[in-house]
Amino acid sequence: MTTREDCLALDARDPLAALREGFALPEEVIYLDGNSLGARPVAALERARQVLAQEWGEDLIGSWNSAGWRGLPERLGNKLAPLIGAGEDEVVITDTTSINLFKVLVAALRVQAGRDPSRKVIVTETSNFPTDIYMVEGLADMLQQGYSLRLVDRPEDLPAAIGNDTAVVMITQVNYKTGYLHDMAALTALAHECGALTIWDLCHSAGAVPVDLKAAGADYAIGCTYKYLNGGPGSPAFVWVSPALRELVWQPLSGWWGHARQFGMEPRYEPAPGIGRYLCGTQPVTSLALVECGLDSFAKTDMAALRQKSLALTDLFIERVQARCAGHPLTLVTPLEHARRGSHVSFEHPEGYAVIQALIDRGVIGDYREPRIMRFGFTPLYTRFVDVWDAAEVLGEVLDSGVWREERFMTRKQVT
Ligand SMILES: *Cc1c(COP(=O)(O)O)cnc(C)c1O
Repeated sequence: MTTREDCLALDARDPLAALREGFALPEEVIYLDGNSLGARPVAALERARQVLAQEWGEDLIGSWNSAGWRGLPERLGNKLAPLIGAGEDEVVITDTTSINLFKVLVAALRVQAGRDPSRKVIVTETSNFPTDIYMVEGLADMLQQGYSLRLVDRPEDLPAAIGNDTAVVMITQVNYKTGYLHDMAALTALAHECGALTIWDLCHSAGAVPVDLKAAGADYAIGCTYKYLNGGPGSPAFVWVSPALRELVWQPLSGWWGHARQFGMEPRYEPAPGIGRYLCGTQPVTSLALVECGLDSFAKTDMAALRQKSLALTDLFIERVQARCAGHPLTLVTPLEHARRGSHVSFEHPEGYAVIQALIDRGVIGDYREPRIMRFGFTPLYTRFVDVWDAAEVLGEVLDSGVWREERFMTRKQVT
């Protein structure tokens, strides 16, 4: 039986506890939504001031060179690379996840069209993040070449859905709703056996679980930097392409930033060698610069240590909620098995939306995803064991009192 004192003791001997000081978090809040918007690194405020006041304000356009603005996508990509098992000069930080997905989807379909044009199916999960599905639909609609989606309802049904008609297997490694963690190496090997290419969406895995793209033999990967990587609201995303595939085809958004000689101002496109060809146009420098502060938080630790603490936090939360909230209609949808669990925990409740609103009103910030899913993200860089204890207590109080039934908690906001 765990007590609140046990949790305080766990925090006292947590080797990662000091990392929390690197984040600006309001005292009165228990923040369990780092899987949707990571907390602000303390350093980001000073960095923003420097970019706005000095680099933009004083040095003006010269900063493209003097402050290294032009090289940010590549330089920050190299800082991210070790967190996802990518090599040097293999990742760029640019554009959004949705847009990067479009680029790698087209590239993968073009590679497959050259190998076996009869492959027209893109396999993914019904419960994949909607934008991933929508981007495939938009592309299939644009191409009018008979491409179609095959949506799989359960992770265990994926292997049977991949066959010799499959062009691409597109999987989000950690499911945004359930927190299910796919076996990247096993699924990639299976896809390759069937002649398919893989696209891995790492939105809920980069900075959350150890990822090894190279060891898994993955083909393409994309993901955002504003969740576990703490890059800031809407900060640019990343894209990685296996060096073996990278130069085979163009990516479709062939803008001047991806040209072999950007300032040659030539009338014809020639893709840059390397991952630079996955850039399109001028980057949002003010936002991009702040991504570095988030990435720097990881320099003081490693993914193995973070994973260990993440599992301890999610184990504790599951145990505490099941003990404190027994008798309420809560269903755990996140796998108990460590090997299948990301860094967030989801419970279903028939009135999950209202319950989450009542929790937020009491300073416990989680979020809600249709249908009925209450999500709680655990960020080992700054979540404490005592936060887990207190969050489960507040959830228990909200459910026991039925306060969530109040009108103000039942009314839907624009962002849930
Ligand atoms: C958060 C998330 C996205 C977001 O894509 P944007 O283009 O940044 O809006 C995409 N896919 C998954 C799996 C996500 O979790």
